[in-house]
Parts: sequence; structure tokens; C-alpha cells
Amino acid sequence: MAEEVKTASPETGEGRNFIEAFIDADLAPGGRYAGMRVHTRFPPEPNGYLHIGHCKALTIDFGTAEKYGGLCNLRMDDTNPTKEDVEYVEAIQEDIRWLGFDWGDRFFYGSDYFEEDYRQAVGLIRKGLAYVCQLTPEEFREYRGSTGEPARSPWRDRPIEESLDLFARMRSGEFPDGAMTLRAKIDLASGNFNLRDPVLYRINHLPHHRHGDKWCIYPMYDFAHPIQDALEGITHSLCSLEFENHRPLYDWVVEHCDLPSRPRQIEFARLGIDHTVLSKRKLRAMVEGGQVSGWDDPRMPTLCGLRRRGYTPRSIRNFCERIGVAKAASVVEFGFLEHCLREDLNASARRVMAVVRPVKLIITNYPEGQRETVTVENNPLDAAAGTREVAFSRELWIEEEDFLPEKAPRYKRLYPGGPECRLKGAYLIRCTGFERDGDGRLTAVLCEYDPASRGGDPADGRKVKGATIHWVDAATAVDGEVRLYGNLFSDPAPDEAGKDFMACLNPDSLEIRRGCKLEASLKDAKTGDHFQFLRLGYFCPDSRDSAPGHLVFNRSVSLKDSYVKK
Ligand code: ATP
Ligand code: MG
Repeated sequence: MAEEVKTASPETGEGRNFIEAFIDADLAPGGRYAGMRVHTRFPPEPNGYLHIGHCKALTIDFGTAEKYGGLCNLRMDDTNPTKEDVEYVEAIQEDIRWLGFDWGDRFFYGSDYFEEDYRQAVGLIRKGLAYVCQLTPEEFREYRGSTGEPARSPWRDRPIEESLDLFARMRSGEFPDGAMTLRAKIDLASGNFNLRDPVLYRINHLPHHRHGDKWCIYPMYDFAHPIQDALEGITHSLCSLEFENHRPLYDWVVEHCDLPSRPRQIEFARLGIDHTVLSKRKLRAMVEGGQVSGWDDPRMPTLCGLRRRGYTPRSIRNFCERIGVAKAASVVEFGFLEHCLREDLNASARRVMAVVRPVKLIITNYPEGQRETVTVENNPLDAAAGTREVAFSRELWIEEEDFLPEKAPRYKRLYPGGPECRLKGAYLIRCTGFERDGDGRLTAVLCEYDPASRGGDPADGRKVKGATIHWVDAATAVDGEVRLYGNLFSDPAPDEAGKDFMACLNPDSLEIRRGCKLEASLKDAKTGDHFQFLRLGYFCPDSRDSAPGHLVFNRSVSLKDSYVKK
């Protein structure tokens, strides 16, 4: 688990994470942003769906702004024309809204600042701080230098006028891809390679999804991002740790461009989760390769996948808040995410009965044709949830695994001559035998019930030695399909650098059970409902495939908590 880095805030004495400690200092009298409102942004690249890693960033970006009474912008980082797809822009908005974060009317596209990026670049050339470099990509690599050996470019000291002219012609489309770049003139000998005259603009004759053919030169992220932040009045540009080495360049751009404000970049550790991959590239590869059914496959760590699986916004936000904001990289157990979901659903989900591996139970001493209903609680943790009536009659469905043809060590459920067991909320029964078909397959378990134990408790107070088992009335049951999920990856660290993540996939991550027997009250279950299937876990109707008359339930999470607090 990530360890939260907290320092005490001198004013409030409250625990603060390291980002908040920086912000406190910035807002204090004499600080960088004294008297100003905290303003952050979340800048997803619209080249895929958001995953649980993005939720950490969202919680930090939106959450920090919220805590300080500030604002957070949503900005599509779409300056690279090679990968974007508008399909994702709306999906990203939908996912963020679902989590409950609000960007108000501050929705932007990074590409909307292209004209301003260009103007800033021209300004840098005029100041002698940028130049057009004509090294070929091969030469560029060759002249990069090494630690101790500076980079080189013969174009570095070309006249300002020449760079201005070439840059304008780059824009007008005169040169092919790769012919030249615009580079910042910073320090070819810097120990930080990001400062070795980094490329600010490259030629790319590709249409942009919002601007069509208007541009054939595109700004690099490191140049465009600080400009976007400054133009939007962002105070704190919070990002993940891989940008730490880029911060000196971020600061250089802020300092040398002609900008209306001076944002500050602060980095935090990326979230990693075991048994999964958190990279849009890898997730897309599985979608395209058919290893999963789509971005919203319930096994995917995407927000749409988790939502379809039955995750609630509250469980995900709780998870992100509790893993904390650390500067050191860490991998969190998937079990902890499940723990947060269980905690949320345990409090709110209605308890129902469903049988996923049905076998018939016949109560031989229950009068044929007789029917009744028994009263069961909807949620024992929530008295306000009330009770409901569940049909009961001579024939029921029970789980196959709740019966054995003969006694087995420590087995407390049904077997001929076994202990008295409780049918949840109904009656006490004893197994008396079973029936098989011609092929030796079990067709029914036989039992006798104690008519005086209605409700599930003996009239004489005797001790019930067997287990309590769940059941569904056969006469009123509805059929349904149930999908049980395991880890998408059997390897605990499929995301590790250098690993072939596809080879780490778990071939048994999906088990489909058809012909399951569900209590009649599930007939009208709809998307957004959550249930606890007694003894089996938490389930929700599948948002894509479930329909009245063809019910499909996803197991969101099992009941057993594998997460051990350390
Ligand atoms: P991916 O590798 O999945 O494509 P990315 O960083 O390229 O990730 P972006 O869309 O550029 O994805 O990310 C938007 C924001 O979310 C960035 O600020 C990024 O730092 C943050 N982010 C992405 N993945 C994680 C993660 N696993 N943990 C924390 N923050 C993340
Ligand atoms: Mg990215």
C-alpha cells in the first residue's frame, strides 16, 4: 500500500499530503500565489478510455481544487495528431461526470491554443531562444551526446531572421516530415537531457481531428503544456512522476515565454495495481486483439469496465482517497479496490437469493400443491430497507455444492443422514436421500422439513448443527445467466517493464453460468441496481446484455475479503 506522505500544516495542525503542503506555502502571505485561488486541471489524452490510474489523478486534480475552494479544468490533451479519436472525448467526459467531478464550463482542447503556441515560438526565436535545426532524425540521435559529452547542432547559431523565415515556411507546408525542427536554445551540455536544446515543434503532415489540414507543424507536449496551463490561469499543474525530469523545461517555458501567469508543476507517483495493466496502449491492444470484449469488458480496469462490473463511484473515490498521495511509486493490491467496493455494497445492497449451480431439492413431507411465502430481511445492516415475502413450496433449487451423496470430514451441509440444516429464512430440514437418472447424474436431493420451524428456528430451542443454505422456490424462479470473473492476469505484475503482458493473461478469468435460478423479485432488475446474492457475492445486471426475460448478472465482487490489512 502507498504510504501517505503527510506533514502538519502549521495553521490548522491538520494532516496534509506533500502537494497540499506545497500549496499551503504558495498561498501563505509572501508565497508565490498569495491571495489567489487554487486552480488545477486534468489533461487526458483522448486516445483511449480512462482507467483506474486516471482516477488517482482525477481525485488529486479535482479533489485538491475542491479542498481549497478552487477550480479544476478539464482539458483534452490533443496536440499530437497521430493518435486522437473523438470517440474518446465524450466517453472521458461521461466517466468523469459519473465519478461526480465537475469542471463547470471550463472544458478545453489543448489544440485550441495552436495559434498561441505558434506565437510564443516566434517570440522565443525573436529573443534568440529558439532556432530551426536541420539535423536529420539520424543525425539528431548521433549528435545527442552522452553524460559528459555535450550534444551538438551546427544550426544553433544561425541568424534569428533565418529561423523566423524557415519556421514560417515550416508552417506553410514547404518541407516534408522530419526535414527540420524548432528547438529551444537552452544548454547542450546539461546533465538533464530534456534541456539539451529540446524540440519545440516538429513537421507532421497529418490532419488534426479538430483542425483538419490547418496545421502541418505540431508543438511538443513539453512546450505546449505549460503554455496551456498559463493561458488557463492554472496555479498548480499536478502530474505523474515521469514528468519530474521535465520540470526544468516546464519552468524554462514559463519563464521565457510571454505568458499571463506562472503555473507550477508538482509530481506524484502513478498508481499501479497488481494483476492488471494500467496503460491505454496495452488496454487497447487487448480490445483490438479480442482478448477482452471491449473497453467496457467487466474485467478491464477502465472506468467503463469497472462501472459495468458493478463498481460504484463512491467505492472508487474512497479507494483513491485511501491509497493516498505519495511521491514514491507503489503497487496497490487489486484486493484493496475490491475491499472498498464490498464496504460500500455491504451497507447498501439488497440481499436476495440466487442459485448458480442448481440442483432440485424435494421436501418429501411438504404437502403437494401447497404454497406459502416467508419473510426475509432486505438488508440486516439497514432496518429501513425492510423485508420482503419470498415464495416457498415443495420443490426448491439449491446449490449443487450444498449436497454430497455421503458424509465427508467437516462437511456441515446436506448428505443422507447428515445434520439438520437451515433453509435461510424458511424451515429446518434433514437430508433423507437423493435421486439419479439412468446415467447416474444427480437429479434431486430429498429431504424432510420440520413444519414447526417456520422462520428457520426450532420450536423447542434445540441446537441446529448444520449450515444455513440459500434456496430459490422452483415454482416461481426466473432463469438467468451469471458471469463470474477472476483476475484478468494470472501474473501479479503483468505491467512490469519488459514483460510480455499478453502472455500473463489468465485463461480462466471469465466463467459463464447459464440456467441459474433467481428469486422472482429479480425479474425487474435493471442497470444500476446492486444486489448481494446470499453466500455468493455482490452482483449487478449487465448494462449491455441483461434485459427483461433474459437476465444477465455480473459478479462485481465475491464476499470473501482477500485484502489483509498490513
Ligand atoms: P497511459 O499510459 O495509460 O496512456 P497517460 O499518462 O499517457 O497514461 P493521459 O491521458 O496522458 O494518460 O493521462 C492524463 C493524466 O492522468 C495525466 O496527468 C497522467 O499523469 C495521469 N495518469 C495516467 N495514468 C496514471 C496512473 N496510473 N496513476 C496516476 N496518474 C495517472
Ligand atoms: Mg499520455
